[in-house]
Amino acid sequence: MKNTRNLFGIIALVAVIALAMTGCSSGADPCSHSYGSWAPKAAATCMAKATEERACALCGEKQTQSVGIPDPDAHDEGWVMTPGYELEGCLRSGCGYLTGDYYLTLAIGDTGPGGGIIFYVADGGGTPARNPISVQAGPAGEWSAYTAYYLEVWTTDEIASDWGSNGAVIAGVTTFTNETVPDALLLGNGRKDTWLIVTYLGESVSNRAAQRCVNATHGGKNDWFLPSLGELKELKGKANMPSTGYYWSSSQYDEDYAWFQGMAGSAGAGYGNGDYYVRAIRAF
Ligand SMILES: [Zn+2]
Ligand SMILES: [Zn+2]
Repeated sequence: MKNTRNLFGIIALVAVIALAMTGCSSGADPCSHSYGSWAPKAAATCMAKATEERACALCGEKQTQSVGIPDPDAHDEGWVMTPGYELEGCLRSGCGYLTGDYYLTLAIGDTGPGGGIIFYVADGGGTPARNPISVQAGPAGEWSAYTAYYLEVWTTDEIASDWGSNGAVIAGVTTFTNETVPDALLLGNGRKDTWLIVTYLGESVSNRAAQRCVNATHGGKNDWFLPSLGELKELKGKANMPSTGYYWSSSQYDEDYAWFQGMAGSAGAGYGNGDYYVRAIRAF
């Protein structure tokens, strides 16, 4: 009989434990929670959906869920710091929203982040107005378009070189036979055109004007390029530049000629296998 009582005792104990395990406090059976209704927890932001929360009335366990879609206008606005300027926009990683307001902290003649000399500042002044530059996207996979507030020029020439005309107008390169045609002197196309020239001539070719600039690593930067004719004109007359000499641009004239700019005089079309001075710039 004693053994039988012990057996009943064990059965009773197991039953009590099993009962306890069906209660929500053990966490073993979510069906037994008694949740209240969903209540707002956090509002949607530009990068995240809104969240809601509910709690179990018995054990207090909380659940959250995302609802709706991100709110494209709910930015965390502030000043984004970069070398040379501050941009007002969203501080959230991955958003990229900018209000268009900016503060510039460098002036023409100052040393830029690449160790060159600043020769264009998007301060809104001057004629034409010195606005931010839309740096055009490069060939597929090279880089995305971006906005630049400065141009800086390296302090010395690269090795004087030929341009590398191959008897063809290179597809996509800014090409014009008269500098008064609309957009001929646009700023922001030099970097793209430099890479198109390099790609066309072959990246292994290192002794041409565009390649000299692309291969430069001045100041630890690898985004130097051959200026477009419009960008070269900004360089003409600046204190750090020679007052004479002809410099290649990355703008093409026709299948055999490309544009150069005289530091003392006017621009002209130079035969592609002629040697002219080469000066690398970068836009940031
Ligand atoms: Zn519960
Ligand atoms: Zn945002």
